[in-house]
Amino acid sequence: MTTQSHRAERVSAPAGSVEFDADVLVLGGGPAGTWAAVSAAERGARVVLADKGFCGTSGATAAAGTGVWYVDPDPALREAAMADREKLGGYLQDRRWMARVLDRTYQQSNRLADWGYPYPTDDRGKPQRNSLQGPEYMRLMRKRTKQAGVTILDHSPALALLVDDDGAVAGASGERRQKHDRWTVRAKAVVIATGGCAFLSKTLGSNVLTGDGYLMAAEVGAEFSSMEFSNPYAISPAFGSVTKTLFYGWATFTYEDGSVVPGAASKGGRSAIARALLQGPVYARLDKADDDVQRHMRVSQPNFFLPFDRTGIDPFKDRFPVTLRLEGTVRGTGGLRIVDDSCATSVPGLYAAGDAATRELICGGFTGGGSHNAAWAMSSGAWAGQGAADYARQLGTVAGRRLASAGTIAFRSRSLRAFEPAALAKRVQDEVVPYELNYFRDASRLHGALARLDAAWLDISQADAASRADVLRAREGAAMLATARWMYRSALAREESRGMHRRDDFPGQDNRQRHYLTTSGLDEVWTSVRPHAEITYAEAAE
Ligand SMILES: Cc1cc2nc3c(=O)[nH]c(=O)nc-3n(C[C@H](O)[C@H](O)[C@H](O)COP(=O)(O)OP(=O)(O)OC[C@H]3O[C@@H](n4cnc5c(N)ncnc54)[C@H](O)[C@@H]3O)c2cc1C
Repeated sequence: MTTQSHRAERVSAPAGSVEFDADVLVLGGGPAGTWAAVSAAERGARVVLADKGFCGTSGATAAAGTGVWYVDPDPALREAAMADREKLGGYLQDRRWMARVLDRTYQQSNRLADWGYPYPTDDRGKPQRNSLQGPEYMRLMRKRTKQAGVTILDHSPALALLVDDDGAVAGASGERRQKHDRWTVRAKAVVIATGGCAFLSKTLGSNVLTGDGYLMAAEVGAEFSSMEFSNPYAISPAFGSVTKTLFYGWATFTYEDGSVVPGAASKGGRSAIARALLQGPVYARLDKADDDVQRHMRVSQPNFFLPFDRTGIDPFKDRFPVTLRLEGTVRGTGGLRIVDDSCATSVPGLYAAGDAATRELICGGFTGGGSHNAAWAMSSGAWAGQGAADYARQLGTVAGRRLASAGTIAFRSRSLRAFEPAALAKRVQDEVVPYELNYFRDASRLHGALARLDAAWLDISQADAASRADVLRAREGAAMLATARWMYRSALAREESRGMHRRDDFPGQDNRQRHYLTTSGLDEVWTSVRPHAEITYAEAAE
């Protein structure tokens, strides 16, 4: 446990603000952020963690039950686990990274057990460590983060990074929503663990995930990778927000007139559902679940049933309307590009973990059912925290560094028009939510959407600074807009279908495009091709 002398220091600050000096600042308090904070503190760093919500209840994991890519260290089992998703992910995974994530996830899960996480056991008494209940897991992570001596700022969204004269990242600033004041943390290194971007599509736990970390990172010049793999849609009741697509494996899907939607219940049936939803309402009934399965569903995912119980619908007997909710980069695989084993980004002093970072190294272009993202969050979180702590130690003393805010959009006044955050969010959603634009992609539709998104960027670049009350929403809207532009520029550059990226005009997978796409830029968005790290396994002929 860390001693008091390892705590970040609160320093005197002007009225209406609080300031801290720290070695490492972690932005985001989901699994990735809390593992990063604990790991940095264990390396002796003074750590501050700032979360937009209440650390331990905010983000995609806290609201869900998550499968975890936990595989016993038996070479045959590990080999099978790595081979399992390679085709699905379009052969973009990297075996070296998969092996290290499997190792680290195994260690971290066993640490959770040592810390008292109540893993269930099977009939023979063997602990089952391949699944975590989000609320229980995150309550434990908050406790361990505090015990490690980390200063937690709850309800304190970061708004912009700080940089020194050399462009190295040196902290961040944000607001304390419940105290109505500002915070500034001067730090030697920053870990971005702000999750993915789900475009305010109302999937449970994801409305805090608006890509804020991406925008802040792009403002200091960081790069992104695999942003074309950002269009997963999950099935949910039309009247609810719980996206537990797995359960719909027991469903029959029907049109308004009661006839069955062809192909909807098969593997890959979401395309059929999306096409049917373009014509009219689609209904589901979980009528293939027997009594045993029904009981298991209720125990494993009680929150799935809340909206049904409230509305008096029995999902096993009654048919109910369904929709597909966009999950963006939360269950996509794109994110900040990491350049080494410590999850450093291309910008000095900046690290990335969890959904904020690209998961291409273990997932390629598809995450499929759960488990890899949770494994990535705990592994990359630990590496990023340790990497940031080591970087901070090597930097030594930084007293007297001049720091400046890197924040641009919504901070600089151009005075040509007012900033309207709600209208901006709607403008972005109109381009990324429709299935005919994002689920089923093609060059002409992507060009059209990009032209409108680029025009929106020009508009906000010329807008007034947002008012203090609006600045968070304005930055969220700008982050969603920037994310949509990286996503569609990358989607245009990948002229094939691979992983979750489907092009109507290029329906096949093209072996010559087995590479990664890098993107970044704010006023000018660019893309470039990076070769796949190494080809050590046979590529299946498509
Ligand atoms: C319904 C659902 C089910 C899932 N099931 C599985 C599964 O079974 N297995 C699996 O592997 N994965 C699953 N996932 C994905 C998994 O939940 C994520 O990969 C995981 O939560 C990523 O952890 P994270 O810490 O990176 O992000 P999150 O858990 O999303 O946490 C991000 C945190 O950042 C904070 N934040 C955001 N913006 C800011 C800001 N500006 N300043 C400060 N803080 C900020 C948020 O408040 C939040 O606390 C599921 C996702 C969903 C939506």
